[in-house]
Amino acid sequence: FGTGLKDAVKKLAGKSVIDKAAVDELVRDLQRVLIQSDVNVKLVMELTTTIKKRSLEEEPPKGMGAREHVLRIVYEELVHLMGEEVDVRLESQTILMAGLQGSGKTTTTGKLARYFQRKGLRVGVICADVFRPGAYDQLTTLCQKVNVPCYGEPGETDAVGIVTRGMEELAGTEVLIIDTQGRHALEDELIEEIIALNELSSATHRWLVIDAALGQQAREQARRFHEAIDIDGVIITKMDGTAKGGGALSAVAETGSGIVFVGSGETIEDLERFDPDGFISRLLGMGDLRALIERAEEAISPEDVDVNAMLKGKFTLRDMYKQLEALKKMGPLKQVMGMLPLGNVDLPQDAFDVTSVKMDRFKYIMDSMTSEELDNPGVISGSRIQRISMGSGTSPDEVRELIKYYKTMQRTLKTMRGGQGKFNMQRMMK
Ligand code: GDP
Ligand code: MG
Repeated sequence: FGTGLKDAVKKLAGKSVIDKAAVDELVRDLQRVLIQSDVNVKLVMELTTTIKKRSLEEEPPKGMGAREHVLRIVYEELVHLMGEEVDVRLESQTILMAGLQGSGKTTTTGKLARYFQRKGLRVGVICADVFRPGAYDQLTTLCQKVNVPCYGEPGETDAVGIVTRGMEELAGTEVLIIDTQGRHALEDELIEEIIALNELSSATHRWLVIDAALGQQAREQARRFHEAIDIDGVIITKMDGTAKGGGALSAVAETGSGIVFVGSGETIEDLERFDPDGFISRLLGMGDLRALIERAEEAISPEDVDVNAMLKGKFTLRDMYKQLEALKKMGPLKQVMGMLPLGNVDLPQDAFDVTSVKMDRFKYIMDSMTSEELDNPGVISGSRIQRISMGSGTSPDEVRELIKYYKTMQRTLKTMRGGQGKFNMQRMMK
């Protein structure tokens, strides 16, 4: 598991045309991976239908190759699945926490209190969980650590009464967070209570807390809470565990909201704003698609490197230099390969990792060459090497090294021409 999708994308990258079979294959693998990550089956089907349709119908924008185009569609549709970007305002507000018992509401209440406190706002917290014994102690302990006032009435069974008095008590706070009860299952009583609390507090936000490990049930929970109090944000907890959080996406879809925060540990500091790219990478079990696409675009503009000409056999030292520059802009080759969904590379990983200093030396060397030598490095013999090294203030070994680089790259291009492109990020991106 996990490698499946990489393989599918790799296969796609190796294809000379993106046909229906190639897209079908990718889509099947994508479906499998997402369903294994707890994403709701219906959502997965909708997503993959769209990806398929767009991949086959849309023309790639000018200058973008078919493979990159398909990868971009996959990325865009996944981002779409993450829902709206939720903006967290640093102003006065009341937040009502919703979710079943054990989802992480109380812990997240503490974390949110800390979050807003760090932003310089006066925060207060109310414990309205009248169901779980020790609920107040749990929340007070958290709040004491960061000096946030916490209102509660241990033993009291009327949540509405607690919140009424709590709001009076904490009248001077800017951000008020209300922690509620959550039972094992959704009961009418629970729903009625949270509706009452929502009305009473005129909550600015009603955030639903979902355990990352929650699977297909997430949808029904989200639906019930959404019907009751109009959920406007989802928080995924326990993302520090092995679960990928795919279940929470059905909560996003049900509520038409987005993911606000992600809980990443048991301490009060372990709360992060949602990062769609990181989430997608984790969901798919592969590198960062967007970073890859962006870097590829920045690094390689089609005017700079004429891949087709090179594939046809024309490959000069100047081409090599441009290639090296493009590779260098993309960052260390190893890192780039890590982002690429390509596993096997027929090259030593550091084959073209050239430092800036070395690039400069190469430039001096090339400046001392004649046009003929640049276009056709094959003519560079012993005496020419001497002349070039003297002229450029480099050593003959450095000149030989440059020629060696050239030959390695030329060989790679030849293999590609013969073997239908086993590896090349240029091909991948064109
Ligand atoms: P509640 O019943 O919804 O209030 O849930 P709690 O806040 O009491 O959390 C239930 C359990 O999950 C506790 O043991 C928490 O420490 C744990 N928990 C909550 N959020 C996280 C998280 O982001 N990461 C980890 N590892 N544990 C969490
Ligand atoms: Mg609780």
